[in-house]
Amino acid sequence: MKRRQFIGVLGAAATLAVGVRAAKNGKPKYVFLMIGDGMGVAQVRIAERYARMKAPAKDFRLAMNRLPVKGLTTTNDASGAITDSAAAGTALACGTKTLNGVLGLAKDKETPLRSAAFDAKEAGKKIGIVSSVPIDHATPAAFYARVPARAMYYEIDEFMLQSGFDYFAGETMLGRGKAKDKVPVDRLVKNAGYRHVRDRAGFNALKKGDSKVLVEYDLGYAIDTKAELTLADYTRKGIELLDGENGFFMMVEGGKIDWSGHANDLATNIHETLAFDDAVAVVLEFCMRHPDESLLVVTADHETGGLKLSPIRSPRLVPVIDAQHYQGAHFIDQIKKWKKTGTKTVEQVYDHLVEGFGLDEVADITKSTLLQAIEATLSADSTDARSAEIQKMYGKKNAAVVAFLHEVAARTGSRWTSFTHTATPVQTTAYGRWADRFAGENDNADIGKNLRDLVASA
Ligand SMILES: [Zn+2]
Repeated sequence: MKRRQFIGVLGAAATLAVGVRAAKNGKPKYVFLMIGDGMGVAQVRIAERYARMKAPAKDFRLAMNRLPVKGLTTTNDASGAITDSAAAGTALACGTKTLNGVLGLAKDKETPLRSAAFDAKEAGKKIGIVSSVPIDHATPAAFYARVPARAMYYEIDEFMLQSGFDYFAGETMLGRGKAKDKVPVDRLVKNAGYRHVRDRAGFNALKKGDSKVLVEYDLGYAIDTKAELTLADYTRKGIELLDGENGFFMMVEGGKIDWSGHANDLATNIHETLAFDDAVAVVLEFCMRHPDESLLVVTADHETGGLKLSPIRSPRLVPVIDAQHYQGAHFIDQIKKWKKTGTKTVEQVYDHLVEGFGLDEVADITKSTLLQAIEATLSADSTDARSAEIQKMYGKKNAAVVAFLHEVAARTGSRWTSFTHTATPVQTTAYGRWADRFAGENDNADIGKNLRDLVASA
């Protein structure tokens, strides 16, 4: 497994004090909104606890927790329901609440809303939209698209390419799979005049001054070894490409925190939160070099998984988390294969998973639970009508793997209580002269309203 390096560990809190020199128009030149998708307070805390136990400095804090202004943000959709990423993304982007599933439109699903990204563009700023998941997924799409249903990926891609924004970077474009009888997505990208970057060499070749760039490259999962680029790399490149006289607005999303929350995969969740925080560290370092002109807001769109923490700091946290080398889906794929070929017995699968998750001694009662889950999985009907995309997002709820993932969490003193989003408020932290606007208790739509005001020209 790739060992994390703690980048951007900044100095003492005192150095976070911001200057008083007035920025142009009294508004920030550089505006960053960073969204941990599904990143609840508990997810942030356990990731920080893990990182601190591994870090050389005993007082280590995540970059997002070093920001001087703190707030607590409510996330419900316009009807009061537990939000999805589309409604929450729209509230954060446009300052108006809408219904679940809707992007960039009011709750009547018709009235167009306007995002901070378009306000910033009108004010002469450059725009970057960055995510660790597909670029046309709900959270990034909330900043440029207007559709009544978040799964309208092809239409979302059309909005993306018509936006004229300067830098997009994400895992892929889901609209490609919906382009039957339509102009292929890759041709749309070309026709819109975007430079389409799909490999690492092309990414590395991007340099200051390049504009209309669309990076489509899968970052993978931070827990796996295969990721060659990181969200921090995407973010750093964005700063390099977008910096200029009028400044820029950049949205950065850590999207797989949510996916691993749906999967109840704690080790993967912690690594995704830390990968997101690495990107925050890159931004914070930039902001501290431009303290009078920068605003950084770090928040989440909702909590996912109902993660419950024990009050006691578990000394087993680091060894248990480090013993898992792959995200849970890796094991799901293996079990699926064995089930199809019928080549492994329940005991053999058990031995494999015990090794795969790095569990040391297993109590008899736990073993019998795990064996039952494996048996249920191997004998269950294999028909699953859900699309591959939903499976990728939400996991296949493979009973055997979920049982092992829950055992991993239990060993750290934590527990997942849901496979879905919850209504728990999320934390918001901010840095910069304008950060006070995000302090205290607020609503996700307030964040959007304040951002829109701050990026707009005077
Ligand atoms: Zn979300």
